[in-house]
Amino acid sequence: MSDVSELSSDNAVYKTLLESTRAIPWKIDWASMQFAYIGPQIEPLLGWRQDSWVSANDWAMRIHPDDRDYVVNFCVAQSQAGVDHEADYRALTRDNGYVWIRDVVHVVRNSAGEVESLIGFMFDISERKKTEEKLLALQKELEALSFKDGLTGIANRRRFDASLEREWDSARSSAQPLSLILLDVDFFKQYNDLYGHIQGDKCLTDIAQTLSLALTGQRDLVARYGGEEFVLILPETDANAAQKVAERCQRLIEKLAIVHAHSPHGQLVTLSIGLGTVVPAAGSSPADFVQAVDRQLYVAKQHGRNRIEVVPPAA
Ligand code: GH3
Ligand code: MG
Ligand code: MG
Repeated sequence: MSDVSELSSDNAVYKTLLESTRAIPWKIDWASMQFAYIGPQIEPLLGWRQDSWVSANDWAMRIHPDDRDYVVNFCVAQSQAGVDHEADYRALTRDNGYVWIRDVVHVVRNSAGEVESLIGFMFDISERKKTEEKLLALQKELEALSFKDGLTGIANRRRFDASLEREWDSARSSAQPLSLILLDVDFFKQYNDLYGHIQGDKCLTDIAQTLSLALTGQRDLVARYGGEEFVLILPETDANAAQKVAERCQRLIEKLAIVHAHSPHGQLVTLSIGLGTVVPAAGSSPADFVQAVDRQLYVAKQHGRNRIEVVPPAA
């Protein structure tokens, strides 16, 4: 007698425990697929009345359509296999919203090893998901920032490296010409000395914006290669078309007409330009190509600056 009253007082304790936690307990009878129990906490969380959870289908229909198939299939398969499992999904609320739930499921088996019921707890993980989503958005922002040059706003070296790698592979597999233009500001140290570093920064920003105007192809890229050097990637562009782009760059900078009193070229800021075109062959590397173009930039400097030098076709 005392055993029974102890048991019933234990039951009361368990019930209080179960129904006062923030996790929502539930039980589904496996044979009938009917809810044997669901905690009253479900109503304040999702808005659906406690007695409206009748069958496993009610549960399935209250899962966000984008999560439903995957979650239901996964949970059924795990349950059939008798494996405890958990699933994250968006549960639909009565007022057409959703709440992120983590459902932790224990598969109860009888002495013969057959599945008898499923018991589980639903945890409200909305806050965690919100934090995760914010983190993901921040990560994306950071990634975008780190592909962008902080001063000029155009692509940075990292983006250039990634793009060149991609365009190189693409040009190789399609046997299309790929052109590269390296541009270096002439006498820029003197410009800084004469007008100050801040004016130098503005000069670089104006040049970057102007070079962006010279691009025509959808996949063309202008990047800051380093200090006062810029680079253009021109996919599917042959030597003639690339030469025109280089000349356009020169013309646009000429039109921009940034005064540089110590420059022998009309007392304006000018660029020296190296240009190369390649149909990448097996065994050749983008690094070698960049180096060949860089050598022509050096030649342009040697030959007086404010000029374009082209990698000879056979090189
Ligand atoms: P040349 O045209 O013949 O190559 O000579 P240069 O003076 O342009 O080239 P050099 O490599 O001697 O000097 C480059 C200068 O660019 C020195 C450096 O202080 C300046 N520079 C590099 N990055 C920046 C920047 O972000 N802002 C400013 N204001 N100056 C920079
Ligand atoms: Mg330089
Ligand atoms: Mg320079």
